[in-house]
Amino acid sequence: MRLDIQQLLAIDGGTQGFGLVLPLGGDYGDFTAGTAEAKGGVSNHGGYLLLTADTVVHAEGICSRCGEGFDFCHSFKTERPVARNLTADENDEYILTDEDGFLDLAAVFNDELLLELPTKLLCREECKGLCPKCGKNLNKGSCNCPAKEIDPRLEVLKALLDNG
Ligand SMILES: [Zn+2]
Ligand SMILES: [Zn+2]
Repeated sequence: MRLDIQQLLAIDGGTQGFGLVLPLGGDYGDFTAGTAEAKGGVSNHGGYLLLTADTVVHAEGICSRCGEGFDFCHSFKTERPVARNLTADENDEYILTDEDGFLDLAAVFNDELLLELPTKLLCREECKGLCPKCGKNLNKGSCNCPAKEIDPRLEVLKALLDNG
């Protein structure tokens, strides 16, 4: 979605609102489905342009520890100045318009999502994950695997003692 801010430039104190919905695909980590919905506006403060937005992410994620699907919800705020005559490397903080004075909102929020969303999803902070031996989901109860491996050197000793 491209936002034309040419008219806004002529209105000191004006605001131009926008809303967009981005689908969440594989680009943002282990999401199987979902959307990010951004609502906000660009305002003109004496020629200084500021983009502000609230973004709400609702998605289905796959936990990187236990592999279970879960509902992922996250919201965040964006507040970044917009500039027309800077090159991209002058300041990372600025959102730049293209040559025609349009803002590419999809690209802006694509970047925001990459920064905001975790690359490793966890169904919960204290997810216990899977047992490395039997693969049971330890969030659903413990398994019967021995908690600790017996040191193989002790096994040898035990065998000697049993035979003696
Ligand atoms: Zn998990
Ligand atoms: Zn186990």
